[in-house]
Amino acid sequence: METIGHWINGKLVAGTSGRFADVFNPATGDVQAQVALASTAEIDAAIADAAEAQVKWGATNPQRRARVMMEMVRLINRDMDKLAEKLSSEHGKTFPDAKGDIQRGLEVIEFCIGAPHLLKGEFTDSAGPGIDMYSLRQPLGVAAGITPFNFPAMIPLWKMGPALAAGNSFILKPSERDPSVPLMLAALFQEAGLPDGVLQVINGDKEAVDAILDNDTVQAIGFVGSTPIAQYIYARGCANGKRVQCFGGAKNHMIIMPDADLDQAADALVGAGFGAAGERCMAISVAVPVGDATADALIEKLIPRIERLKVGPWTAGDDVDYGPVVTAAAKANILKLVESGVEQGAKLVVDGRGFSLQGYEDGFFVGPHLFDHVTPDMDIYRKEIFGPVLSTVRAQSYEEALKLAMDHEYGNGTAIYTRDGDTARDFANRINVGMIGINVPIPVPLAYHTFGGWKKSVFGDLNQHGTDAFRFYTRTKTVTARWPSGMKEGAAFNFKAMD
Ligand code: NAD
Repeated sequence: METIGHWINGKLVAGTSGRFADVFNPATGDVQAQVALASTAEIDAAIADAAEAQVKWGATNPQRRARVMMEMVRLINRDMDKLAEKLSSEHGKTFPDAKGDIQRGLEVIEFCIGAPHLLKGEFTDSAGPGIDMYSLRQPLGVAAGITPFNFPAMIPLWKMGPALAAGNSFILKPSERDPSVPLMLAALFQEAGLPDGVLQVINGDKEAVDAILDNDTVQAIGFVGSTPIAQYIYARGCANGKRVQCFGGAKNHMIIMPDADLDQAADALVGAGFGAAGERCMAISVAVPVGDATADALIEKLIPRIERLKVGPWTAGDDVDYGPVVTAAAKANILKLVESGVEQGAKLVVDGRGFSLQGYEDGFFVGPHLFDHVTPDMDIYRKEIFGPVLSTVRAQSYEEALKLAMDHEYGNGTAIYTRDGDTARDFANRINVGMIGINVPIPVPLAYHTFGGWKKSVFGDLNQHGTDAFRFYTRTKTVTARWPSGMKEGAAFNFKAMD
């Protein structure tokens, strides 16, 4: 069986811990590889080497670092199909969706070509007599990223690109569920001209994460994953004096106003709720139609659309709508939550529980589910299901719908479907959620804006990508300079304004 190791100091190496995790083919349920789980000693050694490599990389001029990004864009495009095939085979998502995963990561690498501009400091000429003042943006040293299974290309690229372009070394600990694509990306970075040791991709589980959290050389950690782990990493990383940003789970609501185009809203809900088997932090998992007439009409439009969904393996071609979920444990958890919804009184109007795919009976496929009459006290409403399950909560007014979304503990993304500009504007202004769609179901900001939620969907105060990423991966140094011609005689004892 294939064993997957680490990318350390410019080459693939086998793990030495003797510990491994299974990597599945989610479509068949077979174990297709074993991934090495790094020990603390392996992590510490890789971080030490990264710190050494950073000294030269950090002093490389930003234009040259940007050229590595430029070449990386070309190489990812060259290898797009190869990367997407590997991604689909370990994650289970469809081939076009895997390409989308890579594409949205690639766009951040494109943005990083602008590093020289983004890293420019500020300058004040004659801040005082003969005095100039300027601020520099300098790399932190060694930064680290810990990433989830659901976007094995996009999120590692969101982390690696800005950190490296800003002159840091980077330690990536990808998800142990689908570890191959990050290793392929590391090899492409080397081909693009990144010096060895500047990027280390180390596979592992909690031991590796804790080793990163406790290593004094690591200056900053960017995490993406579930909220309980985000909270843990934020607390431990901050306690250890690091700069930490953690992006957590979600429960994204879509409000459907009575004036909305219900066909468009139903199409949007099906795509955003069931695409990638619901395993997206920006998936819509709650539909909130306003008024019973809207709800009845919407449900009537949703049922046939959901029943028509094609569920299958990525190898079955482009007309598959979504694939299996990532593991048997994920499947069991989703089905358990569906049972809880039935027991707690929600109406299951599309029941995917008996779903089975001929020839793939052992795969981790989950049929699509639609609930109506969900109430806020139910587990299917409170918890992130991360599967192909859409819950409908009926609201009697816009204010009630707004309050529902505002009271939920998560605040990653949300959307409203309406033709009314006033309502849409009010929604965007008042809702306490980070990313808002107006007649757009999955409002993922483009690379030059920033990505981040509110409430329990985020811990830390800077977003991912865009200008925030360059702030996160650099620190400011401010220099006040005066030359002898600007100096006065004698010592100054008072703290006074410059004049
Ligand atoms: P996860 O929290 O299980 O794992 C994320 C990372 O943390 C992995 O690298 C994993 O190895 C590590 N990890 C897991 N358990 C750990 C522990 N006990 N101690 C230390 N490290 C640990 O998340 P996942 O299942 O891989 O991903 C799905 C979750 O990620 C969902 O909740 C989803 O909403 C969230 N997500 C959020 C965003 C966002 O930007 N807000 C984006 C994508 C995914």
